[in-house]
Amino acid sequence: MVAWSFLLGASVGSFLNVVVYRLPAGKSLLRPGSRCPHCERPIRPWHNVPILGWLLLRGRCYDCDAPISARYLLVELITAIWFALIVGIGFYLQTEPASSHFGILWAFVANLVVLGCGVLCGLLIFMDREKVPRSLVVLTLVGALGVGILFAVLRTS
Ligand SMILES: [Zn+2]
Repeated sequence: MVAWSFLLGASVGSFLNVVVYRLPAGKSLLRPGSRCPHCERPIRPWHNVPILGWLLLRGRCYDCDAPISARYLLVELITAIWFALIVGIGFYLQTEPASSHFGILWAFVANLVVLGCGVLCGLLIFMDREKVPRSLVVLTLVGALGVGILFAVLRTS
């Protein structure tokens, strides 16, 4: 589960890079797919694999050779480690056989995971633009509350 959380975190980190780049610019988070900011050519799916894609390309665009910031790699790594760490702590704390308290434990785990993502995005956008969009704060709080309730229901039932 911790290894899965790492992989999930890396994928979410990849999405957070998109959020940091597009949300403050008011662009859609879902379309179009990832493009090289320099030559605008779409990034091939196998080069878009979190962490590995950047390493495979050695931080350069496959088409135009423009450098791709190591920040993309770092954000994916940090998010992956954050997911694995928090889920790992969740499993560490879950020592006794299933009880109703686990609903609260895993709701809290899910809360922390989402809040961490929001804070990371907020920091990065702040570094770029010296302000944090209100939509990010709303998205983070709604997301954290949403997953919290979802996990509380899933683990208690
Ligand atoms: Zn390029």
